[in-house]
Amino acid sequence: MTDLVDRDRSSVWHPYAGVVEPFPLYEVVAAAGTRLTLADGRELVDGMSSWWAAVHGYRHPVLDAAVKSQVDRFAHVMFGGLTHAPAVELAELLVGITPAELTRVFFADSGSVAVEVAIKMALQYWHGRGRPERRRLLTVRGGYHGDTAGAMSVCDPVSGMHSLFRSYVAQQVFVARPRPPYGEEVEPGDLDEVRQVLEQQGGQIAALVVEPVVQGAGGMWLYDPSYLRALVELCREHEVLVLFDEIATGFGRTGTLFAMEHAGVVPDILCVGKALTGGYVTLGATLCTDEVAAGVCAAPGGALMHGPTFMANPLACAVAQASVRLLLDGPWQARVAHIGQVLRADLAPCAQLPGVADVRVLGAIGVVETTHPVDMSVVQPALVDHGAWVRPFGRLVYTMPPYISTDDDLRVVTGAIAATLSQLPG
Ligand code: PMP
Repeated sequence: MTDLVDRDRSSVWHPYAGVVEPFPLYEVVAAAGTRLTLADGRELVDGMSSWWAAVHGYRHPVLDAAVKSQVDRFAHVMFGGLTHAPAVELAELLVGITPAELTRVFFADSGSVAVEVAIKMALQYWHGRGRPERRRLLTVRGGYHGDTAGAMSVCDPVSGMHSLFRSYVAQQVFVARPRPPYGEEVEPGDLDEVRQVLEQQGGQIAALVVEPVVQGAGGMWLYDPSYLRALVELCREHEVLVLFDEIATGFGRTGTLFAMEHAGVVPDILCVGKALTGGYVTLGATLCTDEVAAGVCAAPGGALMHGPTFMANPLACAVAQASVRLLLDGPWQARVAHIGQVLRADLAPCAQLPGVADVRVLGAIGVVETTHPVDMSVVQPALVDHGAWVRPFGRLVYTMPPYISTDDDLRVVTGAIAATLSQLPG
């Protein structure tokens, strides 16, 4: 163990971690391309894109240059009353690559904050339209939308640990996890519960909040676009706004630029984040239609009531613009499709292992679901020993590799997953 890891253990919190039980922890001293270098000299092939964000890998020369050149101009100025080229150009770029109906961009500090802003937009919209009783959110079980209070309220109530935050988290309207799995057509009965909820409570519901096609941190569940289409149609019938969270799925991860394209549906409000900056710095964005913007501005005060200190940070906007252009100018679609083929072929044998419940792949997402939660104190070091950086959670051992991953990189990652899972008790 390095000295830095020792010092870390005495003063630092890590995500979803306590400070009493020590957990496996590794010091990174360098990251370039698809490789993370640890302080002990080991090199790991990255299978996580740093929580699905670093789609171009680490230290990409184009992205490094974008940050450096913006630092030489200015690192930050407040966004109240001031504007700058990185923000305006990024907003124009986002409006250009998303459905034509989405015309306005609000920059947020992170994915969670983008979701908070989206929820506030929906609630203010109904105030502006003289229907303030529409203030609840409709969502599906198994979702994940972030760790702030509003976002938590629409996370899966069990994995989101709503019981810990009962009086803090708003009570929303939940229906069952989307069905069927990707590739199977929805049946009318799959939406009975939603139909009933909308008939009974539709008048109190401001918006549907959902991750299109892939539910990420709430369970890595891949569901069929036909469900999403039917769900959106029902919401439209009941005048419920549609809010898509594409923070995990945006920028090519599922094989289309945005996952909603699988279903051919357009939301009223869209959240993006994560891969927006190629994983360089935190940034989210909430886009909305002219109609939503007009409703928000018709509410008392005429303004969207949100405005973070570091809103539209120029470094973040500059690197985001460079990252999105780099993606669009490259063969991302072919890369993602190829990664999917390799993951499908290499992970398929895991389905035969005792202790494995399911293997599923979509785009550059490969998921192995186990029958029991994995013991991270054993599984994490085993994956590292096999040369891969893969971070399982619960019953999910999955990879979302950078799009620049070579076949050899992917084989290290899938080989590490297969070898580690083959040691699981049945
Ligand atoms: N929504 C989705 C779908 C996510 O996957 C995440 C992050 N895993 C978030 C929101 C929250 O983003 P952040 O961690 O940047 O706040």
